[in-house]
Amino acid sequence: TGLNLKNPDLFRQAALVGGTWIAASDADIAVTNPATGTVLGYVPNLGAAETQQAIDAAEVAQKAWAARTAKDRSNVLRRWFDLMMAHQDDLGRILTFEQGKPLAEATGEIGYGASFIEWFSEEARRAYGDITPTNAPDKRILCVKQPIGVTAAITPWNFPNAMIARKAAPAFAAGCAMVLKPSELTPFSAIAMAVLAEEAGVPSGLFSVITGDAATIGGVLTSSPVVRKLTFTGSTGVGAKLYAQSAPTIKKLGLELGGNAPFIVFDDADLDAAVDGAILSKFRNNGQTCVCANRIYVQAGVYDAFAKKLAAKVKGLPVGNGADDGVVFGPLINDAAVAKVSSHIADATGKGAVVTLGGKPHALGGTFYEPTILTGVTSDMAVASEETFGPVAPLFKFDTEAEVIAAANDTEFGLASYFYSRDIARVWRVSEALEYGMVGVNTGHVSTTEAPFGGVKSSGLGREGARQGLDDFMEIKYICMGGI
Ligand code: ADP
Repeated sequence: TGLNLKNPDLFRQAALVGGTWIAASDADIAVTNPATGTVLGYVPNLGAAETQQAIDAAEVAQKAWAARTAKDRSNVLRRWFDLMMAHQDDLGRILTFEQGKPLAEATGEIGYGASFIEWFSEEARRAYGDITPTNAPDKRILCVKQPIGVTAAITPWNFPNAMIARKAAPAFAAGCAMVLKPSELTPFSAIAMAVLAEEAGVPSGLFSVITGDAATIGGVLTSSPVVRKLTFTGSTGVGAKLYAQSAPTIKKLGLELGGNAPFIVFDDADLDAAVDGAILSKFRNNGQTCVCANRIYVQAGVYDAFAKKLAAKVKGLPVGNGADDGVVFGPLINDAAVAKVSSHIADATGKGAVVTLGGKPHALGGTFYEPTILTGVTSDMAVASEETFGPVAPLFKFDTEAEVIAAANDTEFGLASYFYSRDIARVWRVSEALEYGMVGVNTGHVSTTEAPFGGVKSSGLGREGARQGLDDFMEIKYICMGGI
């Protein structure tokens, strides 16, 4: 496979079910390296019985875990964080080999993922309750926070480590257990995290990682009355389905779904900074993140200058196998991703947009694609309403602030948004007017463990990271103490 890990045990072709490792065989699920098209390894094809087994074990382990002190849970998380950082290079290599992103981005993701474990190891000790002034002299009003219980997580392939870390860390900090189904495209990063979690002292059964048919495993997780919360990151379509499946058991839901991020450049912006921010936001992970700029709106006065500067900077950025030095654009995840990118470009050019950079599959073949810039993009094109999830920067021209706010909000989604302006009054007005869970002002990068990540409208429910991220894994219990 060419992985060459310092610690080969981190690459385990096995799933962890209720404290027991189940090994894969060649007849199980193959995981492919998107840069080479070769099989990286196999993970077990598990189903309903193993999922139920994991839930049963989680139910037992959770009670003992919740009974331990917050400081004790914090120490285990801290060790998990330390181990992730100690193995950052190996974890980054596994991630690049199954997902495709360049090694620098992959090791960066390990650091980002680990930062959630560090943060929640700290937050574990700060799950404060309240004592409220009473309504009656013989009573006292107390509120305590308690873990939700057994939780389930279903995660995507674009951040195979960080999407798990920011769910599992607050869950364990709060005193919950978790049964995880990672993406079938990138299970090895999840499995490596479980290897290190065991080593850190996460008790047997508290954390299961199940691989197999998504709908079968998802069906058992959502219908189980023992599972009290489902946390999902992925497409809005699957999220809505899981929401419906969770209704009969009235589960709590954490949903991080699709986005369609606007990136607005006003005439008064620092244009060079806006170009750098657009590259960071648009092209990170080759455009395959839910907070990637999907629609770039540039005010008429600076439109041509912005388009020129953007093309000059993106042109020549190296495309290739993410494991090779200096590569900035890895492959797309699979053929379906390539088809979507191609169809968005064809639709836009068919309706009058102009390709000013790239515009076709890369000469390297496979799922490599040329970073692409489109000018003359209008609201009737597919790129205006659908998430492209690829390296395509469509530039829309606008005239007024009111017009661009209306355009930016004209979507079912509401995850991340960005704008560049140096006018302080406009910064306030536009920040307040954008119907999004997150607004980046004069920056193309907002994600960090200290801040609440999440969306509104069809982009989801709940927040991850920050202190709110811990609250999402806790229930508030009101105790009315009478007879005083
Ligand atoms: P993406 O477009 O990012 O692949 P998906 O929503 O298809 O988004 O996948 C995100 C996660 O949801 C993956 O782990 C996938 O296996 C899982 N998944 C897909 N379909 C289902 C389903 N019907 N039930 C449960 N999980 C599913």
